[in-house]
Amino acid sequence: MTSQCHETIHDRFSWRGRQCARPATVERNGRWWCTSHDPEAVATKQQKQREKYDALRQRRDRIVQEAITLCTRLGVQGHVNYDGVIPTETVVIAFEDAERLARELGR
Ligand SMILES: [Zn+2]
Repeated sequence: MTSQCHETIHDRFSWRGRQCARPATVERNGRWWCTSHDPEAVATKQQKQREKYDALRQRRDRIVQEAITLCTRLGVQGHVNYDGVIPTETVVIAFEDAERLARELGR
């Protein structure tokens, strides 16, 4: 049996919601869903997005910790500069600190 997907779509054309127009391909718990709105496929996709975000967050946290350690070793105040959740691995220090470090390094 082919029927219409059960999902309600909310977009700028139908703020009250409309039923997905795609043909249903899978039945879950007595309701029919298209390939995109299959609850199991949606859950899998969300889990992958969570894992990707968690990996990014862990990487960002590690970079922040390493930057703090580096600034402590250099004896400077600094902060990690990143764009949203994407780490750019840049440490920003004050000009005076950079000047002092350059002087100490004899450069
Ligand atoms: Zn659908």
